[in-house]
Amino acid sequence: ETIAAIATAPGAGGIGVLRVSGAQASAIATTLLGRAPQPRHAHYCAFCDAGAALIDRGILLHFPQPNSFTGEDVVELQTHGSPVVLDLLLRRVCELGARPARAGEFSERAFLNGKLDLAQAEAIADLIASQSEAAARAALRSLDGAFSQRVRQLLAGLVDLRVYIEAAIDFPEEEIDFLAAPELRARLDGVSDELSALLAETRRGVRLADGLHVVIVGRPNAGKSSLLNALAAQDRAIVTPVAGTTRDVLRENIQLDGVQLTLVDTAGLRESADIVEREGMRRARGELERADVALLVSDAEHLDADLALLGPTQSGQTRLLVCNKIDLAQTPPQRSEQAAGIRIDLSARTGAGLDLLRRELKSLAGIGDGSTGAFSARTRHVLALERVAAHLAAAEFALLDQQAGELAAEELRHAQRDLGELTGEFSSDDLLGAIFSSFCIGK
Ligand code: GDP
Repeated sequence: ETIAAIATAPGAGGIGVLRVSGAQASAIATTLLGRAPQPRHAHYCAFCDAGAALIDRGILLHFPQPNSFTGEDVVELQTHGSPVVLDLLLRRVCELGARPARAGEFSERAFLNGKLDLAQAEAIADLIASQSEAAARAALRSLDGAFSQRVRQLLAGLVDLRVYIEAAIDFPEEEIDFLAAPELRARLDGVSDELSALLAETRRGVRLADGLHVVIVGRPNAGKSSLLNALAAQDRAIVTPVAGTTRDVLRENIQLDGVQLTLVDTAGLRESADIVEREGMRRARGELERADVALLVSDAEHLDADLALLGPTQSGQTRLLVCNKIDLAQTPPQRSEQAAGIRIDLSARTGAGLDLLRRELKSLAGIGDGSTGAFSARTRHVLALERVAAHLAAAEFALLDQQAGELAAEELRHAQRDLGELTGEFSSDDLLGAIFSSFCIGK
């Protein structure tokens, strides 16, 4: 089937692009041009409807398979960026044998024809959706295969391990010796270390793509609003307040050096009998549960007592403990790591120590030192890698504590399958459908 779709958001006086892909694409191009187009050559073309009336003049490009985005014959038609023109041209192309493409269908075909793996295809959508320079660069790195390559490396390590263990199982009289060998332990450790590193970078990649979600909590008068304003002012941030009462949750979005920070001031998380206030608290707790970073504003005197405001620890969440008002106590700004979280002593009023907090937030958001190689990723990838980690841990237990080679091999097979889901080697149609249908039409 040949598909066609408008591939630009028309309007604003720009150019319009109509993309056609499939077996009929070349024939359609020949009809429109009045002769066979040359490959990868810009033809100036009068696009006409069935009655030979002119629709628009523009450029026709032909990319013969397999050297095209989808791997099929592709034709791109460039017109003036008018939705009416593009619509007429789409209708004409469909009369000539194409049908309108579904959302993400071009990328899906590129994936099915081996032009991109699944993680790369997802990176296209992430690049289009990127809201900051850091996010765009990271998505581009994923599109170039930086993430996929790491996944394949890990896959190779897993397969090696499986082959080794399965070979041991095949020689039962030596199996125990084989499985107890330090060599095996070293390989297992190697694969687990690689997986932990990849998981950490993937989590960072998700934050880069999605932005960091920070929730601020603290007693009334701790200095939450002052801190928010100080951060926003120092960074010439774009602040978008969302309506709310003092009892409601107040949100502000701050674009900090290209990272999206959503600061949520939960307006006093104290125990209360007041129904409205309790509702506010329930919502505040909900915000806290979803946060990447839970930021407590307190001071040196009240810190221990205020820790309760952070609620139960969420997995994968970082806790920042801001000790505000150091100007009153006349203590220096500093950063220290404590059991309850990372503590930063600062003054929202004088600005002392704010740079420590900003640096911490940026590093949590994935930008800052050593971020040049960062790639973008999705929650789906993190979840799959977490499943891989669980299978690997089970394999390790089976091997080292139970000397059960068969069980270990089985766990490694599961790990391999889950890892293959990332790049699309083992993906169900449901998963593919869910991923590509979230793309825009024409991509
Ligand atoms: P919130 O209720 O937590 O939002 O607290 P506010 O930001 O409204 O601050 C409460 C009071 O503390 C205000 O009078 C602020 O001026 C003051 N305050 C906030 N931060 C500092 C600080 O670093 N040093 C001093 N001396 N006062 C501060």
